[in-house]
Formats: sequence, structure tokens, C-alpha cells
Amino acid sequence: MADSELIFKPAAELAALLAAKQLSSVELTQALIARTRAVDDRVRAFNSFDEADALAQARASDARRAAGQARGALDGLPVGFKDVIAVAGQPLTCSSRMLANFVSPYDATVTRKLKDAGAIPWGRLNMDEFAMGSSTENSAFHQTANPWDLERVPGGSSGGAAAAVAAGEAPLALGSDTGGSVRQPASFCGVVGLKPTYGLVSRYGLVAFASSLDQIGPLARTVEDVAMLLGAIAGHDPLDSTSYPAPVPDYCAELRVRPGPWKLGVPKEYFGAGLDAEVGGAVQAAIEFYRGTGCEIREVSLPVASSYAVAAYYIIATAEASSNLARYDGVRYGHRAAEATGAVDLYFKSRAEGFGPEVKRRIILGTHMLSSGYYDAYYLRAQKVRTLIRNDFLRAFQEVDALLAPVAPTAAFKIGEKASDPLAMYLSDIYTISLNLAGLPGISIPCGFTRGGLPVGLQIIGQPFQEARLLAIARAYEQGHGWRGRHPTL
Ligand code: GLN
Repeated sequence: MADSELIFKPAAELAALLAAKQLSSVELTQALIARTRAVDDRVRAFNSFDEADALAQARASDARRAAGQARGALDGLPVGFKDVIAVAGQPLTCSSRMLANFVSPYDATVTRKLKDAGAIPWGRLNMDEFAMGSSTENSAFHQTANPWDLERVPGGSSGGAAAAVAAGEAPLALGSDTGGSVRQPASFCGVVGLKPTYGLVSRYGLVAFASSLDQIGPLARTVEDVAMLLGAIAGHDPLDSTSYPAPVPDYCAELRVRPGPWKLGVPKEYFGAGLDAEVGGAVQAAIEFYRGTGCEIREVSLPVASSYAVAAYYIIATAEASSNLARYDGVRYGHRAAEATGAVDLYFKSRAEGFGPEVKRRIILGTHMLSSGYYDAYYLRAQKVRTLIRNDFLRAFQEVDALLAPVAPTAAFKIGEKASDPLAMYLSDIYTISLNLAGLPGISIPCGFTRGGLPVGLQIIGQPFQEARLLAIARAYEQGHGWRGRHPTL
């Protein structure tokens, strides 16, 4: 099969070809390596990749299959990793100078699960430094481009993951989402991205940004592929005490047996000022599609979430980040300043040299939020607002099965356009952040293009641990539309 046919095939179809022995994992891996070599000098989705290692694992997968010991649908499929999730023996840089030379000594739980399923860790994908950002411009290494328009950002912070999947460099990828970092880049790059319910996926081996918000999430080109990857990584893990001991359904099987119509809510505040007209139009058209298939569409209100989520998020996320990032002191691992006079000087210099400007801004903000006198005024109040935000959603979910909303106020913006205005950048997460504060699952699926040819995403917000239903709702839309056949020309 020609490489050009393979690189954009959905992972589920690749899995079927592998199972039927019409394709080998080595052939597939070689096609992805060739594609990455051909386009990644322009897309720059990868921080690094190890061709020899990927091919060795592909050979092992083919040998298993030949011996009748294939481990399941993912066996032999390459999966890209955002450079914040640990794979033993591979770099784990978080796109930061602080960890530029750090090699992970162990596997994250999601990595171990994927390896057990026979999947092949494929490359380290660029991101905003320590996952702080919405455009991948905060990477300390280089700028990733949006495959649909190389002058635009891929979104962030999982920009490399979304760009690699969109550009045909990886059929599947894992990102992390603290305030929108899987969903927003998925929407900017025209792929599918899911943030699971807080607690569904173990974070053991995910470098912590804001521990009460972080979740690992899958990115792929179809809803079914996302379901397949989610099924492989979800579930309770004794190594992450926040992971939830619930049974994991077979999401792919559930996709086929959960017909609508559903009751779907539309949060009225999400369609007001600030929403780009073309993006709003595409999302409205998607809402009309659901109505046309018999779904009941109800307007709902999320008054607290819509007004206070960004403010509460930037208090809680920075407070937690300042605490999590205290471990980078130049002593045990990470960047160590060359010339320091004593311990305190070593901390100062190592941190000053190792962290970029956005990370420093967050540490300073977060340290301030937690300092005596300000803790009550900011942090404690933000936590109370967080409860009110969750209540907003739970109230809406008394009436509806899921919510339909935009992912971001605009399509992909130009590189540099918001780089010098942190507040404008922070506002690009206005529709995604509240889900992390409330712990809810959300998916971004392609729902059209702007006149300029940029993808637009639809966000579907689900009830806690109702990923199966969320995926079914997403798939109903996907099946009614042919956008998954459209790919960027590079
Ligand atoms: N863009 C948001 C931030 O900068 C969210 C990032 C994320 O989800 N990791 O914090």
C-alpha cells in the first residue's frame, strides 16, 4: 500500500489491516517515519524521535502477530507522546530548558498500558513549556506550525500532538489538558481531542502542572480512534490516588449500541461577545444538525462558569504550579547553574536560567496567591467559585445529557499575534477551562472550516464518567459529515 494512503487512514482501519495481515507494523512505521522526515521541517511537531527504537518495536509487534500472539487492536500502532508524559529511556523535556537533558527512568502508567497493548511510543511532541500556554509559542525549543496554515499556531499546549496527528505524522497521540490543552489544539488543527473526567486516567508519570486540574487525553483523526485509545489508558491506578476505581467500558463497542436522540443543552453565555462570527456560525450549524436528527435542544445557563472561570483558573492553576515546580532547584535533576556560591544561589540561578518567561510569570503569580494574607483573599475564594462552577454544570445536567459549545472563541491565530499579551492568550481558553475546574469530560470534534480554510471545533461537554455517551454523541455528528476526508496539503 502506498505511503500516501496509509498516513491519513484512521487508526481503527490501520488496526484492521494489521489484523488481516495486509499491512505490517514495520511498513506502517516506515511510512510514518518517511512522512515525518518529509514534512516536519515545516510543521516541527516533534522535539525528537527515535526511528531505530520505533522500528525495533514494530518488528517485535509483527513477530508477535506472526506467532498468533497479537495483543489487541493497538498492537503495532505508533502513538505520539506529548513531551510531558514519561516513556522509560526517552527524553522528557516538557519543552523546557530546565529538563532539556532529562531522560525518563520510568514509564508513566498510560505508557505502560499502551506498551502492554503492543502500541509503539512514537516521538516526543512539542508543547508550551510545562504545558503553560495556548499556542506552543512558549516552547523553549522551537515553534510548531499549524499544518493547515504554517503561519498560524497549532494551539496549545499540546500543539505538537495535534499538529502531528493532523499532518499525518502519527495516527494517534496523547496530550494533557489542564485548562483546554487537548481540546483547543485539536480544534485549531481539525482533529478529535478528548479531555476525560478528572480521575478516569492515571497521571502517574505525567509531569505535574496543576494537580487538581491535569488530565491526560487522546488525540486522533476520528471519534472511534479516540475511543480506542481512551479504552487502553483509562482505569484505576494504585500509583495515582486521584484515579477513580470505576470499571472501564469498551468504548468502541458502546459507540455502536448507544443511539440518540439526546437532550442537548446550549449554554447561552457561550455565544455572546468575543465569539468570532464564523466560529459561532459553524457551531450553530452543528447544533442544527443535532436538532435535525431528533435531539431536543434546550438553552441552559452557566452564569458563574461563564463569568468567573478564567479568573478562578489562573489563581488555582498558578498556585498549584508554583508548588509543583518548586522541585526544580538544580539539585537532584534538571538544569543546574554552573557557577553558584552556596545552596540559595544555586536555586536562584538554576531556576532563573532554566525557566522561560511564562513559567516564571505563573510561579510568581501562584506564590503570591498562596502567601499569607492573600491566600484567603484569592485562593480560598477561587476554590469556592470552583464549587459554584461545578454546581452550574450539575444544574444544567438535571435537564440535559450533554452540552454543545464552541471550543475556542476564534480559529487558529497567527504566530506572534497574542504572544506579547498574556491576557488575550488566557482568554482563548474561556470555553474550555471551566470543565477542568468542574472535573467534567469534554471532546472537541471538527465542525467545519472558516472561509480562510481553518478548521473549527465543536465542544461537547459530558457528565462525569459518561465518556461512552459523549463519544456516541460526537460520532453521530462525525458520521453525518465528510470533513474527516479533508487533510492539510503540505
Ligand atoms: N492554556 C491554558 C494555560 O495556559 C491551559 C493549558 C493546559 O491545559 N495545559 O494554562
